[in-house]
Amino acid sequence: MQQYILALDQGTTSSRAIVFDRAGQPVASAQKEFRQLYPRAGWVEHDPDEIWSSQLECAREALRLAGITAAEVASIGVTNQRETTIVWSAATGRPIYNAIVWQCRRTADRAERLSRDMGERVQSICGVLPDAYFSATKIEWILDHVDGAREMARRGELRFGTVDSWLIYNLTGGRLHLTDRTNASRTMLYDIHRFDWSDELLALFGIPRSMLPEVRPSGAGFGDTAPELFGRAIPIGGVAGDQHAALFGQCCFEPGEAKNTYGTGCFLLMNTGALPIASKNRLITTLAATETDLPEYALEGSVFVAGAAIQWLRDEMGLITSAAESESVARSVPDTAGVYLVPAFAGLGAPYWNAYARGTLVGLTRGAGRAHIVRAALESIAYQTSDILRAMEADTSKTLPHLRVDGGASANAFLMQFQADILGAEVLRPSCAETTALGAAYLAGLNAGVWQSRDELRALGGGTTGFRPSMDEGTRNALLDGWRVAVKQCLSGTN
Ligand code: ADP
Repeated sequence: MQQYILALDQGTTSSRAIVFDRAGQPVASAQKEFRQLYPRAGWVEHDPDEIWSSQLECAREALRLAGITAAEVASIGVTNQRETTIVWSAATGRPIYNAIVWQCRRTADRAERLSRDMGERVQSICGVLPDAYFSATKIEWILDHVDGAREMARRGELRFGTVDSWLIYNLTGGRLHLTDRTNASRTMLYDIHRFDWSDELLALFGIPRSMLPEVRPSGAGFGDTAPELFGRAIPIGGVAGDQHAALFGQCCFEPGEAKNTYGTGCFLLMNTGALPIASKNRLITTLAATETDLPEYALEGSVFVAGAAIQWLRDEMGLITSAAESESVARSVPDTAGVYLVPAFAGLGAPYWNAYARGTLVGLTRGAGRAHIVRAALESIAYQTSDILRAMEADTSKTLPHLRVDGGASANAFLMQFQADILGAEVLRPSCAETTALGAAYLAGLNAGVWQSRDELRALGGGTTGFRPSMDEGTRNALLDGWRVAVKQCLSGTN
């Protein structure tokens, strides 16, 4: 009886594998870190062989820890760090350069010029504004800097893939060159309206179509693993980029439903249904993960500094000794006494978009102390999240029914309650924190028939903790007014 789903969660700093049972509960997991390579300031690379070997080891280890064999696994789901770019030889399967990681800034100048010259045009095709994050300028860089690469590409001898493609290629013994729609959406080459690579964008970067993987819906089926890897072939039933997988794992299936991942930064995605929404706030339009051919779209936005502000309190300011301590310190005062922190350490993102903004602490009085500043830092995470969600609501003319949350800082109950209060909407935190892996497992399980429908998925999982808004409107509006003034002061320094 095939009771289990194996989710492979290939992240930026580690590879993980989790075995889920039919109830959607994690049964066993394994994790392995791999090297981060920084060949120059601002450059970030991974060794593609380490990505693959660490992922394979974890998969085997998770099966071993679960005490099951490949025969009991119905399907594999893959989720991965997005945008990271690998180019390999079709003949040998060997990468011709290291993986260029999403964080790598080596193509920032190129992306900036593109953004200035034809940003709108690019976004109208692929949903994203030109940025060095996305794969296109990274592929172009490899073709321009690796000896003979352009000629090989022209002769059809090279293959490009995001990490999911690289894993599928290796999982299938080099037989299949595939990706899913969500990962394709992050390459800056994929036409999200026509579900095909864009000839116009391919020409812009000089990338021949022969390099590109076939794109399938996230739950479409991606071949079988080579039998020798796990002792028996296992179908690969689902693939989605990490944030998209989390949206699916959180069961945000209705238009207007959104999830926020509170990590170093925040990643917000809102399901917008069958039609792509062009944002007026420079949010990204992307294809959501679906188990069928029918497209669904999402809006995506991110907060640059979220949990990182808490690390800053700990490491630079010495105001707390652990991130978790921020909660009790914040609760030790009834409010921030008018103190606001705008943690624009790396500029301000949506909906303000100012690269020159810098962190700003306002409203200090003689009575302001450590606890007020710690509380202001936590509250800033909620305000920034609220700003993005309001922009999404404006773009979609939808009202957020509730917000589903995950990520390290979602453990902070003070922050979650304040988030609910500031949004005026319930915040729902699932008991299974592994929403990304779970999303990949859900896609794979639907594909394999372990689960039949989205309704069935909604009924799975171990329940949620709800944080209901309890703040009166007057207080909420006064707090939000104060935040707006603080942001204004932060931005005024950039003129
Ligand atoms: P990432 O995947 O970006 O590394 P995680 O999801 O592991 O992030 O979350 C880690 C971040 O969350 C850190 O920035 C940390 O400061 C913050 N964090 C962790 N626990 C708490 C907490 N209890 N309260 C507030 N912030 C927290």
